[in-house]
Amino acid sequence: MDFRFTEEQELFRQKVRDMVDRLIKPRVAEIDRTDEFPRDLWDKVAELGFLGLRHPEAYGGSAADVITSMIFYEELARGSCGFAMAVTMQILMGTYFVARFGSEEIKQRVLVPAIKGEKIGTICFTEEQSGSDLGGVRTRAVSKDGGWVLTGNKMWITNGPMADFCTVLATTDPDAGMKGLSFFLVEKGVDGFSAGQTIDKLGAHGSITGELIFDGVWVPGENLLGEGPGDGVRYTTAILNEVRVMTAMCACAIADEAMRDARDYANARVAFGKPIAKYQLIRAKFAKHWAWFEAARTLAYKAAWMIQAGLECGSECMLAKMFATEMCQSAVDEASRIYGGNSFATDYPQQRFFRDARFLLFGGGCHEVLQNALGAAYLRKG
Ligand SMILES: Cc1cc2nc3c(=O)[nH]c(=O)nc-3n(C[C@H](O)[C@H](O)[C@H](O)COP(=O)(O)OP(=O)(O)OC[C@H]3O[C@@H](n4cnc5c(N)ncnc54)[C@H](O)[C@@H]3O)c2cc1C
Repeated sequence: MDFRFTEEQELFRQKVRDMVDRLIKPRVAEIDRTDEFPRDLWDKVAELGFLGLRHPEAYGGSAADVITSMIFYEELARGSCGFAMAVTMQILMGTYFVARFGSEEIKQRVLVPAIKGEKIGTICFTEEQSGSDLGGVRTRAVSKDGGWVLTGNKMWITNGPMADFCTVLATTDPDAGMKGLSFFLVEKGVDGFSAGQTIDKLGAHGSITGELIFDGVWVPGENLLGEGPGDGVRYTTAILNEVRVMTAMCACAIADEAMRDARDYANARVAFGKPIAKYQLIRAKFAKHWAWFEAARTLAYKAAWMIQAGLECGSECMLAKMFATEMCQSAVDEASRIYGGNSFATDYPQQRFFRDARFLLFGGGCHEVLQNALGAAYLRKG
Protein backbone atom coordinates (compact mmCIF):
# COMPACT_ATOMS: atom_id res chain seq x y z
CA MET A 1 0.00 0.00 0.00
CA ASP A 2 1.07 3.58 -0.60
CA PHE A 3 -0.89 6.40 1.05
CA ARG A 4 1.12 9.19 -0.59
CA PHE A 5 -0.23 11.54 -3.25
CA THR A 6 1.80 11.78 -6.45
CA GLU A 7 4.17 14.71 -6.90
CA GLU A 8 1.80 16.10 -9.52
CA GLN A 9 -1.12 15.90 -7.11
CA GLU A 10 0.88 17.63 -4.36
CA LEU A 11 1.78 20.45 -6.77
CA PHE A 12 -1.86 20.73 -7.79
CA ARG A 13 -2.94 20.93 -4.12
CA GLN A 14 -0.44 23.72 -3.54
CA LYS A 15 -1.74 25.62 -6.57
CA VAL A 16 -5.34 25.44 -5.34
CA ARG A 17 -4.36 26.27 -1.75
CA ASP A 18 -2.45 29.35 -2.93
CA MET A 19 -5.49 30.50 -4.87
CA VAL A 20 -7.79 29.97 -1.87
CA ASP A 21 -5.39 31.71 0.58
CA ARG A 22 -4.80 34.66 -1.73
CA LEU A 23 -8.21 35.25 -3.29
CA ILE A 24 -10.94 33.56 -1.29
CA LYS A 25 -10.02 33.52 2.41
CA PRO A 26 -9.64 37.32 2.64
CA ARG A 27 -13.22 37.60 1.27
CA VAL A 28 -14.93 34.87 3.33
CA ALA A 29 -16.44 37.12 6.02
CA GLU A 30 -17.74 39.54 3.37
CA ILE A 31 -19.28 36.71 1.31
CA ASP A 32 -20.91 35.30 4.44
CA ARG A 33 -22.28 38.71 5.50
CA THR A 34 -23.64 39.82 2.13
CA ASP A 35 -24.68 36.37 0.88
CA GLU A 36 -23.89 37.56 -2.64
CA PHE A 37 -22.44 35.31 -5.33
CA PRO A 38 -18.83 36.46 -5.95
CA ARG A 39 -18.87 36.50 -9.75
CA ASP A 40 -15.28 37.80 -9.97
CA LEU A 41 -14.01 34.77 -8.03
CA TRP A 42 -16.07 32.50 -10.26
CA ASP A 43 -14.41 34.03 -13.33
CA LYS A 44 -10.99 33.52 -11.75
CA VAL A 45 -11.70 29.86 -10.96
CA ALA A 46 -12.85 29.40 -14.57
CA GLU A 47 -9.78 31.19 -15.93
CA LEU A 48 -7.54 28.81 -13.94
CA GLY A 49 -9.31 25.91 -15.68
CA PHE A 50 -10.90 24.38 -12.57
CA LEU A 51 -14.50 24.30 -13.86
CA GLY A 52 -13.53 21.71 -16.47
CA LEU A 53 -11.68 19.42 -14.07
CA ARG A 54 -13.73 16.30 -14.86
CA HIS A 55 -14.51 17.02 -18.53
CA PRO A 56 -12.65 15.99 -21.70
CA GLU A 57 -9.90 18.18 -23.10
CA ALA A 58 -11.76 18.36 -26.44
CA TYR A 59 -14.35 20.64 -24.73
CA GLY A 60 -11.83 22.73 -22.78
CA GLY A 61 -11.63 20.49 -19.72
CA SER A 62 -8.57 18.93 -18.09
CA ALA A 63 -9.90 15.36 -17.64
CA ALA A 64 -8.37 15.16 -14.16
CA ASP A 65 -8.49 11.87 -12.24
CA VAL A 66 -10.97 11.49 -9.37
CA ILE A 67 -8.32 11.90 -6.61
CA THR A 68 -7.13 15.18 -8.14
CA SER A 69 -10.69 16.48 -8.31
CA MET A 70 -11.18 15.56 -4.62
CA ILE A 71 -8.01 17.48 -3.73
CA PHE A 72 -9.57 20.47 -5.45
CA TYR A 73 -12.86 20.21 -3.52
CA GLU A 74 -11.04 19.74 -0.22
CA GLU A 75 -8.87 22.81 -0.71
CA LEU A 76 -11.68 24.94 -2.11
CA ALA A 77 -13.93 24.25 0.89
CA ARG A 78 -11.21 25.62 3.20
CA GLY A 79 -12.27 29.00 1.86
CA SER A 80 -15.96 29.78 1.50
CA CYS A 81 -18.31 26.77 1.83
CA GLY A 82 -21.06 28.54 -0.14
CA PHE A 83 -18.77 29.46 -3.01
CA ALA A 84 -17.42 25.89 -3.01
CA MET A 85 -21.01 24.61 -3.35
CA ALA A 86 -21.65 26.83 -6.39
CA VAL A 87 -18.41 25.66 -8.02
CA THR A 88 -18.83 21.96 -7.25
CA MET A 89 -22.38 22.09 -8.64
CA GLN A 90 -20.96 23.37 -11.92
CA ILE A 91 -18.16 20.78 -12.09
CA LEU A 92 -20.23 17.76 -11.10
CA MET A 93 -24.06 17.55 -11.22
CA GLY A 94 -24.63 20.75 -13.18
CA THR A 95 -22.74 19.58 -16.27
CA TYR A 96 -22.54 15.79 -15.91
CA PHE A 97 -25.65 14.86 -17.89
CA VAL A 98 -24.96 17.35 -20.68
CA ALA A 99 -21.39 16.01 -21.01
CA ARG A 100 -22.51 12.39 -20.95
CA PHE A 101 -25.65 12.49 -23.08
CA GLY A 102 -25.76 15.84 -24.88
CA SER A 103 -25.52 15.94 -28.67
CA GLU A 104 -22.40 17.54 -30.15
CA GLU A 105 -24.39 20.72 -30.74
CA ILE A 106 -25.60 20.81 -27.11
CA LYS A 107 -22.05 20.27 -25.87
CA GLN A 108 -20.76 23.17 -27.96
CA ARG A 109 -23.65 25.43 -26.94
CA VAL A 110 -23.76 24.55 -23.23
CA LEU A 111 -20.76 22.53 -21.99
CA VAL A 112 -17.99 24.57 -23.61
CA PRO A 113 -19.23 27.92 -22.20
CA ALA A 114 -19.91 26.25 -18.82
CA ILE A 115 -16.28 25.14 -18.59
CA LYS A 116 -15.22 28.71 -19.42
CA GLY A 117 -17.54 29.99 -16.65
CA GLU A 118 -19.65 31.94 -19.12
CA LYS A 119 -22.78 29.86 -18.49
CA ILE A 120 -23.95 28.61 -15.09
CA GLY A 121 -25.59 25.22 -14.72
CA THR A 122 -27.47 23.28 -12.08
CA ILE A 123 -29.38 20.08 -11.37
CA CYS A 124 -33.04 19.95 -10.33
CA PHE A 125 -34.23 16.91 -8.37
CA THR A 126 -35.95 18.38 -5.33
CA GLU A 127 -39.56 19.58 -5.18
CA GLU A 128 -41.65 21.00 -2.37
CA GLN A 129 -43.07 17.55 -1.51
CA SER A 130 -40.13 15.32 -2.48
CA GLY A 131 -36.45 15.38 -1.61
CA SER A 132 -34.98 12.04 -0.52
CA ASP A 133 -37.83 10.19 -2.21
CA LEU A 134 -37.34 10.74 -5.93
CA GLY A 135 -40.37 8.54 -6.58
CA GLY A 136 -42.42 11.52 -5.36
CA VAL A 137 -41.28 13.82 -8.21
CA ARG A 138 -44.35 15.40 -9.81
CA THR A 139 -42.81 17.53 -12.56
CA ARG A 140 -44.38 16.10 -15.71
CA ALA A 141 -42.81 15.66 -19.14
CA VAL A 142 -45.35 15.03 -21.88
CA SER A 143 -44.38 14.13 -25.42
CA LYS A 144 -45.40 16.79 -27.99
CA ASP A 145 -44.33 17.81 -31.53
CA GLY A 146 -41.14 15.72 -31.50
CA GLY A 147 -40.14 17.09 -28.10
CA TRP A 148 -41.33 17.33 -24.49
CA VAL A 149 -43.48 19.76 -22.51
CA LEU A 150 -42.33 20.18 -18.89
CA THR A 151 -44.62 21.37 -16.12
CA GLY A 152 -43.72 21.62 -12.42
CA ASN A 153 -41.72 23.46 -9.76
CA LYS A 154 -38.28 22.63 -8.35
CA MET A 155 -37.13 23.81 -4.92
CA TRP A 156 -33.77 24.25 -3.16
CA ILE A 157 -31.82 24.55 -6.40
CA THR A 158 -28.16 25.61 -5.94
CA ASN A 159 -27.26 28.26 -8.57
CA GLY A 160 -30.96 28.07 -9.61
CA PRO A 161 -31.86 31.77 -9.60
CA MET A 162 -28.89 32.59 -11.86
CA ALA A 163 -28.79 29.41 -13.94
CA ASP A 164 -28.32 29.64 -17.70
CA PHE A 165 -29.21 25.99 -18.07
CA CYS A 166 -30.47 23.20 -15.86
CA THR A 167 -30.86 19.45 -15.91
CA VAL A 168 -34.39 18.71 -14.73
CA LEU A 169 -35.68 15.41 -13.36
CA ALA A 170 -39.25 14.84 -14.53
CA THR A 171 -41.63 11.92 -14.93
CA THR A 172 -42.83 10.76 -18.31
CA ASP A 173 -45.00 8.12 -16.62
CA PRO A 174 -46.37 8.99 -13.16
CA ASP A 175 -47.61 5.42 -12.61
CA ALA A 176 -44.09 4.01 -13.04
CA GLY A 177 -42.62 5.77 -9.94
CA MET A 178 -38.80 5.77 -10.05
CA LYS A 179 -38.86 3.96 -13.42
CA GLY A 180 -40.71 6.85 -15.07
CA LEU A 181 -38.02 9.46 -14.37
CA SER A 182 -35.78 11.13 -16.98
CA PHE A 183 -33.49 14.14 -17.23
CA PHE A 184 -34.18 17.07 -19.56
CA LEU A 185 -32.03 20.03 -20.50
CA VAL A 186 -33.79 23.41 -20.13
CA GLU A 187 -32.03 26.62 -21.13
CA LYS A 188 -32.68 30.16 -19.97
CA GLY A 189 -34.84 32.18 -22.36
CA VAL A 190 -37.31 29.45 -23.36
CA ASP A 191 -40.99 30.27 -22.84
CA GLY A 192 -42.40 29.17 -19.48
CA PHE A 193 -39.06 28.84 -17.65
CA SER A 194 -38.47 31.30 -14.79
CA ALA A 195 -36.89 31.63 -11.35
CA GLY A 196 -39.21 31.79 -8.34
CA GLN A 197 -38.32 32.67 -4.77
CA THR A 198 -34.72 32.77 -3.54
CA ILE A 199 -34.24 30.98 -0.20
CA ASP A 200 -32.70 32.92 2.70
CA LYS A 201 -30.37 30.23 4.06
CA LEU A 202 -28.77 29.58 7.46
CA GLY A 203 -25.33 29.03 5.94
CA ALA A 204 -23.38 28.23 2.76
CA HIS A 205 -23.72 31.91 1.91
CA GLY A 206 -22.44 33.00 -1.48
CA SER A 207 -24.24 30.19 -3.29
CA ILE A 208 -27.66 31.35 -4.38
CA THR A 209 -30.40 28.77 -3.84
CA GLY A 210 -34.01 28.92 -4.90
CA GLU A 211 -37.04 27.77 -6.80
CA LEU A 212 -37.34 27.17 -10.53
CA ILE A 213 -40.66 27.17 -12.35
CA PHE A 214 -41.44 25.18 -15.50
CA ASP A 215 -44.81 26.28 -16.85
CA GLY A 216 -45.42 24.31 -20.04
CA VAL A 217 -41.78 24.54 -21.22
CA TRP A 218 -41.29 22.86 -24.62
CA VAL A 219 -37.83 21.38 -25.33
CA PRO A 220 -36.75 19.43 -28.43
CA GLY A 221 -36.39 15.65 -28.33
CA GLU A 222 -32.59 15.76 -28.12
CA ASN A 223 -32.92 17.57 -24.74
CA LEU A 224 -33.91 14.28 -23.13
CA LEU A 225 -30.49 13.47 -21.61
CA GLY A 226 -30.26 9.69 -21.68
CA GLU A 227 -30.79 6.75 -23.94
CA GLY A 228 -34.57 6.83 -23.52
CA PRO A 229 -37.30 7.77 -21.05
CA GLY A 230 -37.21 6.09 -17.63
CA ASP A 231 -33.47 5.73 -17.07
CA GLY A 232 -32.96 8.81 -14.86
CA VAL A 233 -32.44 7.13 -11.50
CA ARG A 234 -29.93 4.63 -12.94
CA TYR A 235 -27.77 7.48 -14.27
CA THR A 236 -28.03 9.36 -10.97
CA THR A 237 -26.34 6.55 -9.10
CA ALA A 238 -23.10 6.90 -11.10
CA ILE A 239 -22.59 10.59 -10.37
CA LEU A 240 -23.90 10.36 -6.78
CA ASN A 241 -20.80 8.42 -5.74
CA GLU A 242 -18.59 11.36 -6.69
CA VAL A 243 -20.98 13.87 -5.13
CA ARG A 244 -20.96 11.96 -1.83
CA VAL A 245 -17.16 11.78 -1.65
CA MET A 246 -16.93 15.46 -2.66
CA THR A 247 -19.27 16.29 0.26
CA ALA A 248 -17.09 14.22 2.58
CA MET A 249 -14.05 16.22 1.43
CA CYS A 250 -15.83 19.51 2.14
CA ALA A 251 -16.79 18.20 5.61
CA CYS A 252 -13.15 17.29 6.33
CA ALA A 253 -12.02 20.74 5.19
CA ILE A 254 -14.53 22.62 7.38
CA ALA A 255 -13.74 20.43 10.41
CA ASP A 256 -10.01 20.98 9.96
CA GLU A 257 -10.36 24.75 9.54
CA ALA A 258 -12.57 24.96 12.64
CA MET A 259 -10.16 22.90 14.76
CA ARG A 260 -7.04 24.79 13.58
CA ASP A 261 -8.73 28.08 14.34
CA ALA A 262 -9.78 26.79 17.79
CA ARG A 263 -6.18 25.67 18.43
CA ASP A 264 -4.89 29.22 17.91
CA TYR A 265 -7.59 30.51 20.21
CA ALA A 266 -6.81 27.89 22.90
CA ASN A 267 -3.13 28.82 22.86
CA ALA A 268 -3.90 32.53 23.19
CA ARG A 269 -6.83 32.52 25.63
CA VAL A 270 -5.84 32.56 29.30
CA ALA A 271 -8.12 31.32 32.10
CA PHE A 272 -7.18 30.64 35.73
CA GLY A 273 -3.62 31.82 35.07
CA LYS A 274 -2.70 29.74 32.01
CA PRO A 275 -3.65 29.25 28.34
CA ILE A 276 -6.75 27.05 28.10
CA ALA A 277 -4.72 24.78 25.72
CA LYS A 278 -2.93 23.53 28.86
CA TYR A 279 -6.11 22.00 30.31
CA GLN A 280 -6.66 18.30 29.72
CA LEU A 281 -10.35 18.62 28.85
CA ILE A 282 -9.48 21.07 26.07
CA ARG A 283 -6.64 18.83 24.83
CA ALA A 284 -9.03 15.87 24.72
CA LYS A 285 -11.19 17.71 22.17
CA PHE A 286 -8.18 18.09 19.86
CA ALA A 287 -7.08 14.47 20.35
CA LYS A 288 -10.53 13.07 19.58
CA HIS A 289 -11.10 15.20 16.51
CA TRP A 290 -7.62 14.66 15.14
CA ALA A 291 -8.35 10.91 15.16
CA TRP A 292 -11.86 11.30 13.73
CA PHE A 293 -10.64 13.72 11.08
CA GLU A 294 -7.87 11.34 9.96
CA ALA A 295 -10.32 8.42 9.86
CA ALA A 296 -12.92 10.40 7.87
CA ARG A 297 -10.38 11.74 5.39
CA THR A 298 -8.81 8.33 4.86
CA LEU A 299 -12.23 6.78 4.25
CA ALA A 300 -13.05 9.55 1.76
CA TYR A 301 -9.80 9.21 -0.20
CA LYS A 302 -10.17 5.44 -0.21
CA ALA A 303 -13.66 5.81 -1.72
CA ALA A 304 -12.24 8.26 -4.29
CA TRP A 305 -9.53 5.76 -5.16
CA MET A 306 -12.18 3.04 -5.60
CA ILE A 307 -14.20 5.25 -7.99
CA GLN A 308 -11.03 5.97 -9.95
CA ALA A 309 -10.17 2.26 -10.10
CA GLY A 310 -13.65 1.47 -11.45
CA LEU A 311 -14.52 -0.71 -8.45
CA GLU A 312 -18.03 -1.23 -7.09
CA CYS A 313 -18.06 1.30 -4.21
CA GLY A 314 -21.58 2.64 -3.62
CA SER A 315 -21.42 1.65 0.06
CA GLU A 316 -17.92 3.06 0.58
CA CYS A 317 -19.03 6.41 -0.86
CA MET A 318 -22.05 6.48 1.45
CA LEU A 319 -19.87 5.52 4.44
CA ALA A 320 -17.45 8.33 3.57
CA LYS A 321 -20.25 10.90 3.32
CA MET A 322 -22.07 9.73 6.44
CA PHE A 323 -18.98 9.56 8.66
CA ALA A 324 -17.27 12.76 7.47
CA THR A 325 -20.38 14.92 7.78
CA GLU A 326 -21.11 13.61 11.30
CA MET A 327 -17.44 14.07 12.26
CA CYS A 328 -17.74 17.65 10.99
CA GLN A 329 -20.85 18.36 13.13
CA SER A 330 -18.96 17.19 16.20
CA ALA A 331 -15.79 19.13 15.30
CA VAL A 332 -17.56 22.46 14.75
CA ASP A 333 -19.50 21.96 17.98
CA GLU A 334 -16.39 21.25 20.07
CA ALA A 335 -14.33 23.93 18.32
CA SER A 336 -16.97 26.53 19.09
CA ARG A 337 -17.08 25.45 22.77
CA ILE A 338 -13.34 26.17 22.96
CA TYR A 339 -14.18 29.75 21.96
CA GLY A 340 -16.63 30.10 24.84
CA GLY A 341 -19.00 33.08 24.49
CA ASN A 342 -16.98 34.45 21.60
CA SER A 343 -18.18 31.52 19.47
CA PHE A 344 -21.54 33.29 19.43
CA ALA A 345 -20.17 36.53 17.99
CA THR A 346 -20.24 37.14 14.25
CA ASP A 347 -16.81 38.82 14.59
CA TYR A 348 -15.28 35.35 14.92
CA PRO A 349 -15.42 32.56 12.30
CA GLN A 350 -16.66 29.73 14.57
CA GLN A 351 -20.34 30.58 14.10
CA ARG A 352 -19.84 30.38 10.31
CA PHE A 353 -18.23 26.93 10.50
CA PHE A 354 -21.13 25.84 12.70
CA ARG A 355 -23.77 27.08 10.22
CA ASP A 356 -21.99 25.85 7.09
CA ALA A 357 -21.47 22.34 8.48
CA ARG A 358 -25.26 21.84 8.72
CA PHE A 359 -25.71 22.10 4.97
CA LEU A 360 -23.47 19.11 4.33
CA LEU A 361 -25.94 16.83 6.11
CA PHE A 362 -28.55 16.99 3.33
CA GLY A 363 -27.15 17.05 -0.22
CA GLY A 364 -26.11 13.63 -1.55
CA GLY A 365 -28.41 11.83 0.89
CA CYS A 366 -29.55 12.66 4.43
CA HIS A 367 -27.93 10.79 7.31
CA GLU A 368 -30.99 8.61 8.00
CA VAL A 369 -31.40 7.68 4.34
CA LEU A 370 -27.74 6.67 4.10
CA GLN A 371 -28.06 4.72 7.35
CA ASN A 372 -31.04 2.82 5.93
CA ALA A 373 -29.19 1.96 2.73
CA LEU A 374 -25.96 1.04 4.53
CA GLY A 375 -27.78 -1.05 7.12
CA ALA A 376 -29.47 -3.00 4.33
CA ALA A 377 -26.15 -3.39 2.48
CA TYR A 378 -24.45 -4.68 5.65
CA LEU A 379 -27.18 -7.27 6.17
CA ARG A 380 -26.68 -8.51 2.58
CA LYS A 381 -22.89 -8.55 2.91
CA GLY A 382 -21.06 -11.85 2.94
C1 LIG B 1 -28.32 24.44 0.68
C2 LIG B 1 -29.03 23.35 -0.08
C3 LIG B 1 -28.80 23.24 -1.46
C4 LIG B 1 -29.47 22.27 -2.20
N1 LIG B 1 -29.26 22.21 -3.55
C5 LIG B 1 -30.01 21.34 -4.29
C6 LIG B 1 -29.89 21.33 -5.72
O1 LIG B 1 -29.08 22.04 -6.31
N2 LIG B 1 -30.70 20.50 -6.44
C7 LIG B 1 -31.61 19.69 -5.82
O2 LIG B 1 -32.31 18.97 -6.52
N3 LIG B 1 -31.74 19.67 -4.47
C8 LIG B 1 -30.97 20.49 -3.70
N4 LIG B 1 -31.11 20.50 -2.33
C9 LIG B 1 -32.11 19.65 -1.70
C10 LIG B 1 -31.53 18.41 -1.05
O3 LIG B 1 -31.08 17.52 -2.04
C11 LIG B 1 -32.64 17.82 -0.16
O4 LIG B 1 -32.74 18.67 0.97
C12 LIG B 1 -32.35 16.41 0.24
O5 LIG B 1 -32.46 15.55 -0.85
C13 LIG B 1 -33.31 15.93 1.35
O6 LIG B 1 -34.62 16.11 0.96
P1 LIG B 1 -35.65 16.92 1.89
O7 LIG B 1 -34.99 18.16 2.36
O8 LIG B 1 -36.92 17.05 1.14
O9 LIG B 1 -35.87 16.02 3.15
P2 LIG B 1 -36.88 14.77 3.28
O10 LIG B 1 -36.62 13.79 2.21
O11 LIG B 1 -38.26 15.28 3.47
O12 LIG B 1 -36.38 14.17 4.66
C14 LIG B 1 -36.74 14.76 5.91
C15 LIG B 1 -36.18 13.90 7.02
O13 LIG B 1 -36.71 12.58 6.91
C16 LIG B 1 -35.66 11.64 6.82
N5 LIG B 1 -36.04 10.54 5.94
C17 LIG B 1 -36.47 10.58 4.66
N6 LIG B 1 -36.69 9.34 4.19
C18 LIG B 1 -36.38 8.50 5.18
C19 LIG B 1 -36.37 7.08 5.33
N7 LIG B 1 -36.71 6.28 4.31
N8 LIG B 1 -35.99 6.56 6.52
C20 LIG B 1 -35.62 7.36 7.57
N9 LIG B 1 -35.60 8.69 7.50
C21 LIG B 1 -35.97 9.25 6.32
C22 LIG B 1 -34.46 12.40 6.26
O14 LIG B 1 -33.24 11.78 6.61
C23 LIG B 1 -34.64 13.75 6.94
O15 LIG B 1 -34.12 13.69 8.24
C24 LIG B 1 -30.38 21.41 -1.55
C25 LIG B 1 -30.59 21.50 -0.16
C26 LIG B 1 -29.92 22.46 0.57
C27 LIG B 1 -30.16 22.53 2.06
